[in-house]
Amino acid sequence: VTLDQQLRELTAETGDEIFTSVYLDVDGRRDPVWANVEARFGHLCRLARRQAEAMGGDPVRAVDDDLARIDEWLGSFDRSSVLGVAVFCDARSGVFRALPLHRKVEDEVAVGHSPRLVQLAGLVADDPRLLVAVVDRQRAAVYRWELGQLTERASVAREIPRAVDTNVEIGGFDRHRDDELLHHVHLAAAQVRAELNGWDALEVVVAGPEEAASALVNSLAGIDTPMTRITIESHASVDAVARAAEAIGAEVARGREAALLEQILVREPEGRAVMGIDETLAALADGKVDALLVARHWSSRGSRCVVCGRLDRPHTASCVRCGGQTAEIDDLVAAMTDAALAHGATVRLCDDESMVTIGGVGAITRF
Ligand SMILES: [Zn+2]
Repeated sequence: VTLDQQLRELTAETGDEIFTSVYLDVDGRRDPVWANVEARFGHLCRLARRQAEAMGGDPVRAVDDDLARIDEWLGSFDRSSVLGVAVFCDARSGVFRALPLHRKVEDEVAVGHSPRLVQLAGLVADDPRLLVAVVDRQRAAVYRWELGQLTERASVAREIPRAVDTNVEIGGFDRHRDDELLHHVHLAAAQVRAELNGWDALEVVVAGPEEAASALVNSLAGIDTPMTRITIESHASVDAVARAAEAIGAEVARGREAALLEQILVREPEGRAVMGIDETLAALADGKVDALLVARHWSSRGSRCVVCGRLDRPHTASCVRCGGQTAEIDDLVAAMTDAALAHGATVRLCDDESMVTIGGVGAITRF
C-alpha cells in the first residue's frame, strides 16, 4: 500500500472517536541512542495527556490506551534505514496505523477527533520523485527514487565483447565497441521511456561514467521530463546512488517550493490563487482549492460552523455562509488539511519565512 493510499484512507477516519497522532524522528544519525528517542516519545506522551485533560472526561483514558499501544509498537519495530515514524491510533475502535518512513519528520503529537495529517500530507505532496538511470559500458539499471527510497525497476546487462573473438581489421574493433555501447544505451533509454510512461517523475537523473552517461543523455533527447547528468564511477554502490539521488531530490524540492510561491503571486491577480487566511478559508469552503500551501510551523485556533462545516477564524460569531452557529476548534491547520484532502487537493508545507509574503497560508485554486 502506498503512502498516498494510506493518506487517503486516513482522511476518511473522522467522527466522535478520539485519535492520537504521533510523529517521531527516529533517525539514528540524530539519536544513535534509543533511550533518547524514548525520552522524546515520553515528552510527547505528557503533551498528549495534557491535550486530553483539556478535553475533559473520557479522552484521558482513551489517549492512555493509545499511548500504551504506540509505546508497545515502538519497542518492537526495526528502525534501521527508517528516519521517521507516523502513528495514528484509536485503540478503542481498533484503528492502529504505524508508518515507518524513509523521510525525516518533526516530533509532534495531537489528540483530536480525526488523525492529524498535516505532516504526512506534506510529505506525500512535497516528495521529489526522480527516475534514476545508472549506466556504464556493461550494465544499466533504472530506479525510482521515492519517499527517500531507491527501488530498482529494470536492468540491462550485455555481454562483454572480447578482442580475441573479433576477427576484424585494425580500428574495426573500436568501432564495434562503439556500436555495441550505442546499442546497450538504446536499450537502457527504452527502459527509461517505459518507466516514464507509467510514473510521473519530476526529473530524470542519469548517472555513470562520462562516456556511457553522455550517450544515454543523447539517446533520451526529446523527453519531456528535465534531465540531470551526474558522473559516478562504474560499480558505484546502490548507497552511493541513493546519496546522489537524495542531494538532487533536495535541490528539486527547493526549486519546486520557490516555483509554487511564484505561481501564487502570478495567479492571484488573475483570480486563480488566493493568499492569506480569509481568502484561503473561503476558497476551501467553495471546494476550489487544488493545492493548499501552509507555512510549516503556522498554527492557529479556529471555528467551524456546526451546520455546514465551514471553517473560519476563532471566535466567529456565526457562519458567513449559512448563518449557522459555530464551535471553536483547537487546530485550524489540521481542519484545513482535512478539508483540502477531502476535495482531492494536495497540501504543501512551505518554508515559514518565504510564506510570510503571502500571509502564512494560501492556495492555488481550480477555477
Ligand atoms: Zn455554515
